[in-house]
Amino acid sequence: MSRHAKIFIGLTFGAVAGVLSNMFLSPSPFLSFFQQYITDPLGKIFLNFLIMMVIPLVFASLSLGVAQIGDLKKLGRIGFKTIAYFFVVTTLAVTIGLTLVNLIRPGDYLPEETKVKLLDSYKGQASEIKTATENTEFGIQTLVNIVPRNPIAAVAKPNPDMLALIFFSLMIGIALTVISKEKAEPLIKVLEGINDITIVIINIAMKLAPFGVFALIFSVTSRFGFDLLVALSMYVITVLLGLLIHQIGSFSILIKVLTKYSPLKFFKKIETVMLTAFSTSSSSATLPTTISTSQNNLGIPSQITGFVLPLGATMNMNGTALFEGVTVLFLAQVFGVQLSFGVQLIVVLMSVLTAIGTAGVPSGSIPLLVMVMVMVNIPAEGIAIILGVDRILDMCRTVLNVTGDITCAAYVAKTEGYELKK
Ligand code: ASP
Repeated sequence: MSRHAKIFIGLTFGAVAGVLSNMFLSPSPFLSFFQQYITDPLGKIFLNFLIMMVIPLVFASLSLGVAQIGDLKKLGRIGFKTIAYFFVVTTLAVTIGLTLVNLIRPGDYLPEETKVKLLDSYKGQASEIKTATENTEFGIQTLVNIVPRNPIAAVAKPNPDMLALIFFSLMIGIALTVISKEKAEPLIKVLEGINDITIVIINIAMKLAPFGVFALIFSVTSRFGFDLLVALSMYVITVLLGLLIHQIGSFSILIKVLTKYSPLKFFKKIETVMLTAFSTSSSSATLPTTISTSQNNLGIPSQITGFVLPLGATMNMNGTALFEGVTVLFLAQVFGVQLSFGVQLIVVLMSVLTAIGTAGVPSGSIPLLVMVMVMVNIPAEGIAIILGVDRILDMCRTVLNVTGDITCAAYVAKTEGYELKK
């Protein structure tokens, strides 16, 4: 049985068992025990197992990718195409989101008593996020931090500074192309070794995927307040509709036009990546699978995947940007804050920029989203309204985040003269 079929079974079982437990066993000491001692730890172990390899993988594949590209002019060209693609397509995603939220106006459908109840029930979590946001630097300091004073310190923390790691790896890759072949050879061999080792370890982790995915999905669905989905239905529908239009509409057109590939076949080839993104809610945890699937199933050469995909997992988040735009406007409608066209343009820009700075982990975008809210005079506490449905939306937006990365890698490969595997 193929890997994605096994993961799909884990996902289905997890969802069915979780929903049934939610309906018939919740609350019960047995269910709490099962969540706390079986599914939560199992899900976390699986997620950690994947994320454990991300820092070495980003370092090795990015510096190796740059070294393999070899010539600085070609690197500049690929780099420009990649970054331009990230900006243009992310802006397109936010625009879809903002158009929908202005048309549907989900904020007008939220009853006052539901608003008050939600603000009250998620008060604690919201104030924790508010404090975290106040401690998050975003602005000129974010730009300064891209060049790390100490590259090890930049990543040796719970929320590693991925942009700093990217900069450091790019520099090592560039230096490798400048020094002589004989001098570069030993380090290139080491980097290839790290890459190969990472693939083996990820393969071991992915053997656990059906169980890990079962546990992750069970933990989410067995606790989920399904009544919240109903209360926030117009908001949830707006986000999901936006994501669907971008996933099925924009990506299909981009794949067809930019790579001349059948979109259906493309999606079929990256099924495992989409399933992994959906169940882990993490672009970082999905990165190893994203890289291997792009190389093995689509035949994108390693120098392109090694360059585009680690950058994409951190910087290119179409789903996240769309979600941020919709959420800011939805909450503005709920709180009666009028956002002029000019201010909405600022929301677009900030959604694109903060999506670049978002960590590719579950709910990584929430602190930055709160920052955008505060910027346009929406109370930070208002985030409480959507926290209860965030995980489900996160699972969906992460699928777009990784699909966008692979689409970009395919586009860059095609324009660099490589044929994709049919
Ligand atoms: N979970 C998302 C990702 O990893 C980030 C976010 O939107 O919170 O891509």
